[in-house]
Amino acid sequence: MRRLITADSVRTASGVLGNAVLIDGDHVVEVGQRADLLVPGVEEVPYPGATIVPGLSDAHFHPTNWTAAVHRLTLHDASNLDDVVAALVARSSEMPPGRPLVATRLDDQRLLEKRLPTRHDLDVVDRPVLLFRVCGHIAVANTAALQAAGVGPSTPDPAGGSLDRDALGHPNGILRETAIGIVSSVTGGRGDRLDPEEVVSALLPLHEVGLTRLTAMVAYGSDPWCGGPSELRAVVDAAADSPVEIDVFVITDEPDDLTSAAERLADAGGPVRFAGVKMFSDGSFGGHTAALREPYADIGTTGTMRLPAKHRELARRALELDGRVAIHAIGDLAVEKVLDEFDRLVEWGAEPSRLRMEHASLMDDADRTRFAEIGAIASMQPAFLPSDGPWLPTRLGDRMRDVFAHQSALDAGITIAGGSDCPVEQPSPLWGMAAARDRNGIVPTEEVSAEDALGMFTDGVAAALGERTPLSPGSPARLTILDADPVATTPEELPTVGVRAVWVQGRESALT
Ligand SMILES: [Zn+2]
Repeated sequence: MRRLITADSVRTASGVLGNAVLIDGDHVVEVGQRADLLVPGVEEVPYPGATIVPGLSDAHFHPTNWTAAVHRLTLHDASNLDDVVAALVARSSEMPPGRPLVATRLDDQRLLEKRLPTRHDLDVVDRPVLLFRVCGHIAVANTAALQAAGVGPSTPDPAGGSLDRDALGHPNGILRETAIGIVSSVTGGRGDRLDPEEVVSALLPLHEVGLTRLTAMVAYGSDPWCGGPSELRAVVDAAADSPVEIDVFVITDEPDDLTSAAERLADAGGPVRFAGVKMFSDGSFGGHTAALREPYADIGTTGTMRLPAKHRELARRALELDGRVAIHAIGDLAVEKVLDEFDRLVEWGAEPSRLRMEHASLMDDADRTRFAEIGAIASMQPAFLPSDGPWLPTRLGDRMRDVFAHQSALDAGITIAGGSDCPVEQPSPLWGMAAARDRNGIVPTEEVSAEDALGMFTDGVAAALGERTPLSPGSPARLTILDADPVATTPEELPTVGVRAVWVQGRESALT
């Protein structure tokens, strides 16, 4: 059935295209003026005073960890270690004895003490406790959890990870990267035991921030470097009822898992699709694990460079399955090494736009030029700026000018797909757009225009999935209806702009 969706204007990253969008079922027929497009037999859906934009999209999202953040204990609002302990004690008092307590989203940089807790801080809780840092690359276990996992002074650091130790060499509870898995295999990880109903009920409120679709990072088995049940299964089980479209990048070390994931997603029903493979080449700035060419400014490490042993086989399998290759790279060394891999894949025959780098956070001019020449996509998260900005200069020093440098990336000719890395950051694309525009004062020359900010969360996400330009004829009928034109709104006001409705696959979800 043909419907004409009308408002004050239809706004895209390339300008105002009219005031009406004609759709037929799940795709766009034409955008233009209401007077030209409203013909007999076409039903009008009017939104007086509103602005229609292409359906806002997120290029990097963790739906199972978001579900855990919505339904489980999170510590993001704790302002000191006493708050953390009080929240753990309160939750523990509601739980049956003996069951492990897993909590998420601790941000030590927001704590008064500016440090992670150790096992001793968490030992007031009389059960195994595992507490994840907001980045997911670090966790802290209490003594009961370490004991349950058999961790003691003689436990060696695993490949790709480490256990922090006290002066006597005893693990102090802080676990980095793959070391988390030693403990989470007995306590469970962040996304454990999620019911499909919990996943769907966590995704539904995303309409309220204007989101119509996610590019999801989902582990084939358990959470990356954590034990527990399959993240992919949680998404597959919820797929038929998903209120947002989801393109799934699968995190795994085994090529055959990709084949199986592609089949399971194809059979899952709902607006959920296989998108390719996601791999890691380094860690995070927050954990001092992002791989740098020169040491961090505050401690003498260069982070941790790592790629799965079968990374080339994984990439080729994803491409053979008509998918894409997404590789996490934050530090400049990781960026360089991943670009080397992209070169090899293009030589092998990969279409460059099927290669994407997740975060691409620290790049100098030479890296950016090389990136643009290869023609890969940068999946970036502007909301990292307000979160990491306060503490990042002490870690990067004068490299700050090249971190999250969105305008320089655009100038170099790189396509940016905007995302939140939610639940690392809040899921609002309007918040992300505001951060790209005002940058919290960090290297203001890297502020992008209002149009480009909108483009990151619309056209860029579509380009990263090989789709045609949003709202062009034949494109998916995916719309966000806003109370104001986001391009004409200041960055300060942007996050508060009301969302009147979203359209997903040609179906309206009205919000007011
Ligand atoms: Zn992520």
